[in-house]
Amino acid sequence: MKILRYLTATAIVAGIAFSAPAFAADKGLVGVAMPTKSSARWIADGDNMVKVLKERGYDVDLQYAEDDIPNQLSQIENMVTKGAKVLVVASIDGTTLSDVLKQAHDQGIKVIAYDRLIRETPNVDYYATFDNFQVGVLQATSLVKGLKADTEKGPFNIELFGGSPDDNNAFFFYNGAMSVLQPLIDKGVLKVGSGQVGMDKVATLRWDPATAQARMDAILSSTYSDKKLNGVLSPYDGISLGIISSLKGVGYGSGDMPMPIVSGQDAEVPSVKSIIAGEQYSTIFKDTRDLAKVTVDMVDAAMNGKEPTVNDTKTYNNGVKVVPSYLLKPVVVDKSNVKILIDTGYYKESQLK
Ligand code: BGC
Repeated sequence: MKILRYLTATAIVAGIAFSAPAFAADKGLVGVAMPTKSSARWIADGDNMVKVLKERGYDVDLQYAEDDIPNQLSQIENMVTKGAKVLVVASIDGTTLSDVLKQAHDQGIKVIAYDRLIRETPNVDYYATFDNFQVGVLQATSLVKGLKADTEKGPFNIELFGGSPDDNNAFFFYNGAMSVLQPLIDKGVLKVGSGQVGMDKVATLRWDPATAQARMDAILSSTYSDKKLNGVLSPYDGISLGIISSLKGVGYGSGDMPMPIVSGQDAEVPSVKSIIAGEQYSTIFKDTRDLAKVTVDMVDAAMNGKEPTVNDTKTYNNGVKVVPSYLLKPVVVDKSNVKILIDTGYYKESQLK
């Protein structure tokens, strides 16, 4: 301590400035707004963002809003007040942030939409995400594979579940999935027993598992008392588990009632365990470590007045402008390739036991 003080004093006297070590937080504050801790994927996203930002010398203000829109709004307002230079936002409702983002932009703060597009504002600079349409394509392709609807005549009875209608991604997932399913529905190979088709009928507000479970309960009792359900398009692992619990409640997964093929997304631990146990059929692995890296590259570029690397400048129109995006590749995971989650170091083998 004494030596350090001596050195510091000598340096000051000699007019020499110590340069900060590489890990020091001296590049400025980055605000990271996440939607909720109720789903493990967002916890991983937050942790990865903090890790990579800190490694690159940033201070981080990470906040979770527990799916409460006014809460997220005031968290972002706070980040602006605290002097954040860049905001990274995974929105709850992609249309509700316009005022605070205008205020941020007026102060020269750059805004990056994280995973979910921020809509109806010119004040979003970049978007880092996965290829969301492709997520839906993979979910539906896996459902078709599980049902063997690509080789057998059917008809197979299916039901459709969508994500939250205030999340732009939910429409991309649904449209991607329907690009695969609709031709098979038209051919009569797949049949939506309840007749509930379209995001206006199948969406699940806030991606809530209990809401999905209640809808599945209602459909099972209204439509499937005298026939069997064969498959369910589910957009997210939490919803998949809600659906599976409803299915088990009426006897699926035992005796002469095989568990329907159920898709998912996020490779969350309970769902991966369910896949290994032969209940949920598949999920979509989106490596949040890669998303954090791409996003922090964008932060770095924005801080240095450079244009970040993007690979899509056409797809994501937010209602006001097309937001330059970087799209990562999602990977479908079922029982046959579940090892990928361990091989890539995303999970330890012990976590999946
Ligand atoms: C994300 C998905 C996630 C869902 C629910 C979406 O915006 O892209 O990965 O399953 O939100 O949290």
